Formats: sequence, structure tokens, C-alpha cells
Amino acid sequence: MTVDLGMPANPEPVLAERRKTRQLQVGPVGVGSDHPISVQTMTTTNTTDINGTLQQIAELTASGCDIVRVACPSADDAEALPIIAQKSQIPVIADIHFQPKYVFAAIRAGCAGVRVNPGNIRKFDDQVKEISKAAKDTGTPIRIGVNAGSLDPRMMEKYGKAVPEALAESALWEAGLFAEHDFHDVKISVKHNDPVVMVRAYEILAERCDYPLHLGVTEAGPAFQGTVKSAVAFGALLRQGIGDTIRVSLSAPPVEEIKVGTQILQSLNLRPRKLEIVSCPSCGRAQVDVYKLADEVTAGLEGMEVPLRVAVMGCVVNGPGEAREADLGVASGNGKGQIFVKGEVIKTVPESQIVETLIEEAGRLAEGMEQDSGDSPTVTVS
Ligand code: SF4
Repeated sequence: MTVDLGMPANPEPVLAERRKTRQLQVGPVGVGSDHPISVQTMTTTNTTDINGTLQQIAELTASGCDIVRVACPSADDAEALPIIAQKSQIPVIADIHFQPKYVFAAIRAGCAGVRVNPGNIRKFDDQVKEISKAAKDTGTPIRIGVNAGSLDPRMMEKYGKAVPEALAESALWEAGLFAEHDFHDVKISVKHNDPVVMVRAYEILAERCDYPLHLGVTEAGPAFQGTVKSAVAFGALLRQGIGDTIRVSLSAPPVEEIKVGTQILQSLNLRPRKLEIVSCPSCGRAQVDVYKLADEVTAGLEGMEVPLRVAVMGCVVNGPGEAREADLGVASGNGKGQIFVKGEVIKTVPESQIVETLIEEAGRLAEGMEQDSGDSPTVTVS
């Protein structure tokens, strides 16, 4: 069974056609060019804390996460996998470093996929035959996850450091071993903390293979820096149609990673847009505190699931134009706000009532959209 991630076909224009890849299934989620680009993250709980991990997975599911990865550094973690895999609402991938025996444990546990890091699993190449057999018997896909920080020593010797060619060659070598054993349900990642190196490594992979690619800038940094690095790197690749599933790595809670990943895809029309706030940067002409207004409107509309474009503008220079273009908008000035709905001024309210009026009108528009589409998106207006 294939899950469409709840996303209707997106009619909006995109920058590039997806690169054609093989297809694979991570549980019910299809990964590859025939499927929407999925967003994933990793739990931060101890995997042995089954309830805590399931609780975090539930929160991630609610925030739009499609696939979740859990660490499996010990036998106790491996023991926790069957129940986590069984009870999670979204497919669970076990993340394996160092110990090949946990690859088999994860497959037996019913995980929807396994990530291996060939650079730090001792004698990994000798185990590929057995892993291929176990994975094939259960229909479990394998991600070959090469990381700059744990690159195969042979590549380090050959290239001196984790240059793009080294990352790509390491991953392709391992994928080649799996192919020799007639196992092809492989996706690949080649992560580096430098977006320039990372982008080039993925470009090389895209030229040389048709495996689905999992994009990630590893150790991208705290939220601000990591968001910028991931957005520019993913943008450069998605612009070429490269990328089938993404993980934004931030030194921040995993829910934030999902929000950023989802927003990157929405910005490029690779996922239908939901709420979009168009707000001006403010300037010397502003007649209202635009930052505060934009923050309050954003907070008030948080959780809105319908594709609504809301313009929050600080004065009458660009205000009416942008507000008219949006589904809903305000152009502020002289202590008042002109409220626009679908291009028409419907009322003018005092500045103190702008936020509540926008929230009220957004609720009305969302209700209309729900009725038109026949489905029942959730609107939370606080
Ligand atoms: S809309 Fe007005 S306040 Fe906002 S940036 Fe433009 S000119 Fe400045």
C-alpha cells in the first residue's frame, strides 16, 4: 500500500522536474521520483525509553513528519525496536552505527527501514551479502548514509579528506556491493556540514546512479544557521530535481526540523502551501509596529491547515497592492487598518482591532474553503 502523505496533486509550477529514480517503500511511504518528497527527522529520546520515544513520535507525526529515525546504539535499544516500530503511526527507520548485529535486529524488529553507516561498521563489506538477504526477505529498504565525519578510511586514504568525490564514491561502492547481491532497495545520503561540498557530492551521485537520494546537511548548526544552510543547499539541489526525502539537522528540537523541512518544500511548491504570511520588512514609512503585528497574526493563525495567503503591510505604499493580491490582508496607516478580503476592502478598523479582525476573517475564509473542498481541515485560531 502506498500512502500519499495526505497531499493532493499540486498544480503549482515547480522549478524542475524530479530526477527519475528507482522507487522504494519505507513502510507505507513511497520514496523516489514517483512520490512526493518526504520529510523526516530523528528522535532525541533514549530509544530504551519506549513511552517517551513514542510520545515524541506522536508529536512529530502531528507536526507533519512522514518518516522517523531512531538511534540504536545498544542491545537494550535494539530490544525496544519491535514495540516502537509496531506502535508508531509513521514508519520507523533504525539508525545503525558500529555494530552490524543491530542491522539484523532492526530488520527482525519490523522497522520500515535501516540506515547503515558503512564508514564505521567494521568489515561492513563482508556483511553485505547477509544484510541483503535479510533485508530482501522482509522487504526492508536500506539507506547507505555516508557522513563526512565518519568516512570510510579507504576513501580518506585515497582523497585525503571528505571531498565530494570521496563521499559519492564511498556511497556508490557500497551500493554496488548490495547490487552484486541483487539488492536494489537502497537510498543514499552523503552528508557534509559545508553546503558547497554537500551539493556537489549529491550532484555527482545524481549523475552516476538512479537510487533515491536522502538530502541532508549534517551538523548544520543551531536553528538559524542550520535553517539557512539547509535551505540553500536543498534549494540548489531541488532546483535540479535532485532529492527524494529530506532531513534538516538542527541543534534544536526535532519538531523544528520538520517545520523547516516542510516550509522549504512548500516554498518551492513541492508540497501544497498552507498558511503563508506575506509581511513587509517595515521601514521609515511604517505607521504601525509591523513586527508585532506580523507576529501576533502568525501566532493567532498557527495550526491553520488551509492554503491561505495573509498580507500584513505597514503603510499605504505597497500595502493595498499586496493586501489586494492576498486572500486576506491589512494595509495600515493613521492608526487604522484597511482590511482586504479577496481583493476588496471589506472594512476599516482601528489599529487595536486589526489582529482580531484578521483572525476572524481568516476563520471565515477557511470555513468556506473547507466547504468547497469537501474535506475538513483543522483551523485553530487562538
Ligand atoms: S509596506 Fe510601507 S512600511 Fe512596509 S516596507 Fe513597504 S513602504 Fe515600508
